[in-house]
Amino acid sequence: MTAKAGIEIVSHSEMSAFRLCPTKWRYSYVLRREAKASKSAALTKGTAIHKVVGCFHRGVEPDFTTLSPELRALVKGYRAYYGDVDGKDRQIEIERTDVPFQIMIDPKILVMGEFDGVGIRKDTRTRTIIEHKSSGEDISFGSSYWNKVATNDSQVTGYLLASKMMGWGHVEVLYDVLLKPDISRRYATPPGKREYTKEGRLYANQRDRDETELEYEARVVGDIAKRPEHYYRRGTIVRLEHEHEAHVRDIKGTVHLMQVAREMGERVPRNADACFKYGRPCEFHTACFGGANVMDPSFYQDKKSSRQWAKIEQGPPETVSRFTF
Ligand code: SF4
Repeated sequence: MTAKAGIEIVSHSEMSAFRLCPTKWRYSYVLRREAKASKSAALTKGTAIHKVVGCFHRGVEPDFTTLSPELRALVKGYRAYYGDVDGKDRQIEIERTDVPFQIMIDPKILVMGEFDGVGIRKDTRTRTIIEHKSSGEDISFGSSYWNKVATNDSQVTGYLLASKMMGWGHVEVLYDVLLKPDISRRYATPPGKREYTKEGRLYANQRDRDETELEYEARVVGDIAKRPEHYYRRGTIVRLEHEHEAHVRDIKGTVHLMQVAREMGERVPRNADACFKYGRPCEFHTACFGGANVMDPSFYQDKKSSRQWAKIEQGPPETVSRFTF
């Protein structure tokens, strides 16, 4: 959170980090540090999917070589599943992608964000904010994944609140989710473990060579073609008026707590319950529990500027909600 011209500027991801762990927020958003070790594989996969799907919607041919075979299969399947003969999305007329917004929650709090895309649904002609997600969880309707998005997801609420404050009228959020394939590549059976039939053939469940990348990709494509709805789901999310009010309360309360935490400096509390939240240690675990200093360049480095941060650094925030097509 940055204060400029007396206005606190925050984003959804920053508030999320703060709610998860105030110390993590301090390291990441106040001191602007990040671990030198590469980001987790799950995050990298998610970012790669996000980039390629964004290319489809911008009408730009993506660089598939940045993706692993199973993700290549996933994003190619996505385009085949939702694309029309011209390669355009057959459900949505995409108007713009990577659409920044900023809204004043009160005279002292500005929330910045970015919609992945904005378009018009072809069936209902409703303006739609598009949010691309990838997940390793079950994404079938009725799953806990969708229950959370439908009721609790504060990012969705924030988007709908932003569109309301910008006077867009009736708007929906289209949550566009891709399931990361849980199919492993097949490798050659170690020579010492190979077993043969009487005819001298290797047993069917054993291999004498690694599966090639192309074979692996084709196998994943085959599974996607058999059950595309297992891998691709789009859900429309709406919110009621009282949910917007609660969301504004949440933002104001969170910003207040962040101001207090900022004053506390290094005395800000840790949340040890969050250290292994995503099935791996938090990137600041070495600083919190391993005796490393977060400013030590052998463990941590300055965080690279996000586009939002770069905007904040460029100048004072505008004091009105804004958006133009
Ligand atoms: S290691 Fe745990 S306590 Fe430390 S910043 Fe990460 S989540 Fe917070």
